[in-house]
Amino acid sequence: MRVGEAAFCADSGPVAPCPPMPRPAVVHSPAYQCEIGPHVFPVEKYERVVQALIELGELRREEIILPDPAPRDDLLLVHTPEYLDDLAHARRTRRTSCSEMPLSAEIAHAHVVAAGGTTRAAREALSCAVAVNVGGGFHHAFADLASGFCYINDLAVAIRVLQRDGRLRRAAVVDCDLHQGNGTAHLFRHDDDVFTFSIHQENLYPVKETSDLDIGLESGAGDDEFCGRLAEGLGRVWAHDPEIVLYQAGADPFEDDQLGSLKLTFAGLETRDRLVLAGAHGRGIPVVVTLGGGYARRLADTVRIHTQTCRIALQLAAGSAAGTA
Ligand SMILES: [Zn+2]
Repeated sequence: MRVGEAAFCADSGPVAPCPPMPRPAVVHSPAYQCEIGPHVFPVEKYERVVQALIELGELRREEIILPDPAPRDDLLLVHTPEYLDDLAHARRTRRTSCSEMPLSAEIAHAHVVAAGGTTRAAREALSCAVAVNVGGGFHHAFADLASGFCYINDLAVAIRVLQRDGRLRRAAVVDCDLHQGNGTAHLFRHDDDVFTFSIHQENLYPVKETSDLDIGLESGAGDDEFCGRLAEGLGRVWAHDPEIVLYQAGADPFEDDQLGSLKLTFAGLETRDRLVLAGAHGRGIPVVVTLGGGYARRLADTVRIHTQTCRIALQLAAGSAAGTA
């Protein structure tokens, strides 16, 4: 059912309208597509995924929630003032220059908006079960150090904001990107309320931090091994009894990715997504999708993988709205 359509309860009389059904929340900002020059990170993927979801009939553009940039007070729950000052002035310092992403005011702003986007999606997920940020997943960022292509750890910001606001206590991050979620692991290393799970290629960037659960796969691992090990790991996540799951759904475990050598197919990535998303949703746990990495030789493949992830999430949410999940 679309927003604005009339809804009537079958068993409650001829004219009694049902309360409005929750709609899946899709958060996205054009600011995510910042100018980064020649680079392996395809920032154009974000708008391409939005467009694909619209063409598939999963989304209408007017339904997209435009996030505000994360306020400094929210960012300070995760990052140091000195580091945020560097970003605010686009300064290359020892804190920011570790990044493999250029730094400009526009790029810093994009990462602050992405943090606002994941935070908004997490808030929405608490009321409508499933939410998607068509962006985010910048899991390499530390409190006072940029890393990889990441400046602001939007996953950590979203969890810390919801905790501060009293919306939840226990959370989990399920990180299925090719690369370990080192920043996220480090940020929550002393927090028993936040369970961090990363499944990734072992012999690859970054230098590993210690998550609550790490599964490091050998080069060449394919669908069966990835999904089998993932399913085992998810058992630990569910045992933590999280009140929300933030899913980092990187597209880079794909077999034709330029940065890694895992060998997941489109079908394997779909199975992965269903294990996480249906697993959380079926247990009544709100879940938030963030996109993370993705460097397939063909941009269309990265877009296809992310679009499939979002589509599964939206269909799960629509199913619950219709009482058919
Ligand atoms: Zn990655």
